[in-house]
Amino acid sequence: MTNEVRVRFAPSPTGIFHVGGARSALFNWAVAEQTGGTFVLRIEDTDATRNRPEWTDGIIDALTWIGIGKDSPFFEGPHFQSEYEPQHRIAASNLYTEGKAYFCACTRDEVKARTGSEHAGYDGHCRDRGLEGGPGQALRFRTPDEGITVVDDLIRGRVEFPNNAMEDFVVARGDGSPLYVLANAVDDIEQGITLVMRGEEHLPNAARQQLLWPALGATPPQWAHMPVIVNEQRKKLSKRRDKVALESYREEGYLAEAMINYLMLLGWGPGDDREIMPWSEMVPLFKVSDVNPSNAYFDEKKLRAFNGDYIRALPPEEFIAHCDPWLRPDWDRKVFAQVAGLAQTRIAVLSEVTANVDFLFLDEPPADEAAWAKGMKGPAAEILGGYLAALPDEWTADALKTALDEVGTARGLKLGKTQAPVRVAVTGRTVGLPLFESLELLGRERVERRLRAALAKL
Ligand code: GLU
Repeated sequence: MTNEVRVRFAPSPTGIFHVGGARSALFNWAVAEQTGGTFVLRIEDTDATRNRPEWTDGIIDALTWIGIGKDSPFFEGPHFQSEYEPQHRIAASNLYTEGKAYFCACTRDEVKARTGSEHAGYDGHCRDRGLEGGPGQALRFRTPDEGITVVDDLIRGRVEFPNNAMEDFVVARGDGSPLYVLANAVDDIEQGITLVMRGEEHLPNAARQQLLWPALGATPPQWAHMPVIVNEQRKKLSKRRDKVALESYREEGYLAEAMINYLMLLGWGPGDDREIMPWSEMVPLFKVSDVNPSNAYFDEKKLRAFNGDYIRALPPEEFIAHCDPWLRPDWDRKVFAQVAGLAQTRIAVLSEVTANVDFLFLDEPPADEAAWAKGMKGPAAEILGGYLAALPDEWTADALKTALDEVGTARGLKLGKTQAPVRVAVTGRTVGLPLFESLELLGRERVERRLRAALAKL
């Protein structure tokens, strides 16, 4: 055996790639990269309803987006759990022949009738009946009667499970098909995994697997159970309630680098006040034992702020390239290049670029009733009319600003007040790029036309 560190990420395909899954993958990836070890991707596809190729593609795609994939020497896989089913069955059969597991013919109702409760767990009725297996007989692992099972968790420390509270759990169903708890352990053993780092919800499985590994002739791995990720109400992130799909952040225009950075801080930190830091600087500092076991709050506002920082740090050409999917094909890229710098300082997610620049490309400013209602309050008509009459000969942002300032001053209005109706008339929005630069770019002809149209509508 070598001392190579082998970690794994073992998602069950569900159709969405959860941000919590992305965090698990990244923590494991950091360990593999830091130690020069291996990151195994194993798709846990034994549940037939989850066996859809496009779901697996989605997982691989999502991982690639956050920098994890075949291009790296640390990556191995994907392996598919379903391909290891023969090994799972052999393992189950060995547990039986070695007396470490026994067949059980009890139905749920029978157990309930005997114990008086749905939740009492299995009462050991078939333990010594010597059943030899057959249809409808599940295989149960014989847990020790006394003592404790210890899971030495790198994040949580020593976690003790009294054996008398652990039921003889099922490792294979009545039809012989292996259960997750067994299949997962067999695969980890087969694939030489040395550290199992996964979500906290698997801690009870770790107790069972701590027993299963030696029963299968292997030394248990190191364990690490990462904290639950919660929303603003401190409830576990759920796909029904919260935006949990990594894909939805990608589609909204989050940069992979910002996402990676933010996800790494869900439970971990570099130990100083720094938060914004690239992957390459996080990897050498990452330590599993530094991960905080308490719940990690997924703060979307903070993620947005991170993303804004990352956007502003992009070199101009890269920013322009990133924006391309959010610009309609017929929008002139040369015109966009002229305002890209202004947009870059104002947006937090790339999708926002569309609403910032569309006024430059559309024949009419976009119609937004809410913006109209907000911008065209009070003396709007007077301002627009006054400005139309006062538009400067010299078509520069500075001259355009001076002209509007004078229109306002003559009516005792501050520049902020006078800008609002002009902005809505010309760009259709209440917020956006700096107004006077926008007017300069639009040109006299279009500005005049839009101001007139707005006046007519008022
Ligand atoms: N397939 C399991 C899940 O998606 C993960 C199992 C594990 O990491 O051990 O929750």
